[in-house]
This record gives sequence, structure tokens and C-alpha cells, in this order.
Amino acid sequence: MITCQTAAELQQHLSEASTPIAFVPTMGALHAGHMALIDAAGANGKTVVASIFVNPTQFNESTDLAAYPRTPTEDARLLKHHGCDFLYLPAVEDVYPNGAAESATSELNFGSLTARMEGANRPGHFAGVAQVVSRLLAIVSPQLLVMGQKDYQQVAVIRSMLQQLAIPTELVVVPTIREADGLAMSSRNRRLGPEDRLAAGEINRQLAAAAAGIAAGWGPRQLEGLALDAMAANPRLRPEYVEVCDGDTLLPFIPGTAAREIIVAAAVWCGPVRLIDNKVVPTCNL
Ligand code: AMP
Repeated sequence: MITCQTAAELQQHLSEASTPIAFVPTMGALHAGHMALIDAAGANGKTVVASIFVNPTQFNESTDLAAYPRTPTEDARLLKHHGCDFLYLPAVEDVYPNGAAESATSELNFGSLTARMEGANRPGHFAGVAQVVSRLLAIVSPQLLVMGQKDYQQVAVIRSMLQQLAIPTELVVVPTIREADGLAMSSRNRRLGPEDRLAAGEINRQLAAAAAGIAAGWGPRQLEGLALDAMAANPRLRPEYVEVCDGDTLLPFIPGTAAREIIVAAAVWCGPVRLIDNKVVPTCNL
């Protein structure tokens, strides 16, 4: 694996690499969820590029940015072990040479996709995500972009960005990898103390219960309420939202309306850590 700290160096190497190139953007503190993306990227002999960049413009709280875990040595070991070919490990100035205020995505309109959930609860977050992904795509020019379903709303925003900017990169989405108790793997899980870690397993259980309720035809607002109440009953959990929404519009799912898939998504504070997770309910069996 070749590690590059500048875009110029990476582009020099990639000009000689074989295509297709599959790109996996990350913020580091890598775990098995990220590795599932690297494995998917490398399938069928593709050239794999990963980036580790804790993008300051997508953090709406400076304390969250400062507390974000950083494990560069272990990250490089894992990436190499999973066959990653190139690691781009830039400084902020290399990603934003003209300053972070300038963004090729500031005029984009994500409509309902950013109206609720993370968009409503983390002001500026998706503007920062679109900004950094568009910058990284301009640097790497991959044929494929590999992202995790764990960040369902992020995937929807990036899919819309690719369409709006007519970027011909194919988006590949990888299912969520979970711990033994069902907790979605996340870099932020490292910051959970033992008791918060135990409590965090409840998030998956409540999302699974709500997803089963949707599949059984229960009302979405009732299921949201039940999941919120069950999580709030645990003194270590503070749910911010539980939403049952249409997977394409990310607006609240209304029973009786046609939907390709339904998403049950939640954001929950677990001690000092904010965690997100979701379940997809295909509607073909409903
Ligand atoms: P992050 O480093 O948190 O920005 O995540 C980088 C990429 O890994 C994103 O596309 C995430 O959706 C994906 N990812 C994070 N956690 C998981 C997981 N548990 N399973 C699958 N993909 C994940």
C-alpha cells in the first residue's frame, strides 16, 4: 500500500494505476464496517483507494470534532491487510487549497433529503459532507464510490449530488456491519464506557422491533413512539429521533402510499456519544 499525503502525489500514482478505481472515503478510526467497504471495493481486482480525512466542515460541534478518535497506525495496518492499494492521508490545506469557504456544491438543492433527521439535527452537516466528497472525487476520479448503508441519509445526499453535478461515478452501497449484540459498528463506539456500551445495544433492538412492526402493518407514528419510549426508559440513552420514512424522499412514511423501501432511522445519545443507525424494510413483501 502506498500512502500519499498530497493530491498531487496521489494523482501521479493513479495516472499509472489500472482501472477501474474504487474509492472509499473515511474519517479513520477504522473497524470491520470500513473493511467491508474496502473488501467490496477490491472485488474483481479493482484498484482500491481509501482516504482518511476528518473533515472539519461537516462537524457542527467543535467538541465532537476534537473528540473524534484518531488511530492512524492501526488504520494503515488494517487497510494494508485488506488489500488497499493507495491511502490518501491529507492535511486540511491539501483538500481545501483555496480555503474551506469555497465549495462546488454550495448551490445544490437536496430538497426533502436533508429536511429531517441528520439534516434537521446537525445544521450544515450535509453541506460539509457534499463539499468534501465532491473535492475527494475531483482528486481521485474513481469509477466507483463505495459507501455504507449505516449512513443512509448520507448515501441519499451523495447520490443526489452525483446526479446534480452529472458526475459519472457509480455509487456502491454496502450493508451495515454490526457487533455481536447488533450495535452498528462506528468509530464513535470507542468512546463508550462499559455501561454505555451495554445500553447502546438497545438501539438496534428497538429499530429491529419497529422494522418488524412496519412489516406487520402497524402504524409508523405508533412504532416511532414505542421505540422512543423504550429507549428513553434506559437512563443511559437519550433518543434524539426515531423516524419511519420513505427511503427515496426521506419524508415520514404515510401508510397506504407507494414506497420502494421504508427506513427506520434513529439518532440516540448514549452517555457523551451520539450514535445513528437504521433498518431498511423492503416493501415488496408488504
Ligand atoms: P466514517 O469513517 O464514519 O465517515 O465512515 C466511512 C464510511 O464507512 C461511510 O461510507 C460509512 O457509511 C461507512 N461505515 C461506517 N460504519 C459502518 C458499518 N458499521 N458498516 C458498514 N459501513 C460503515
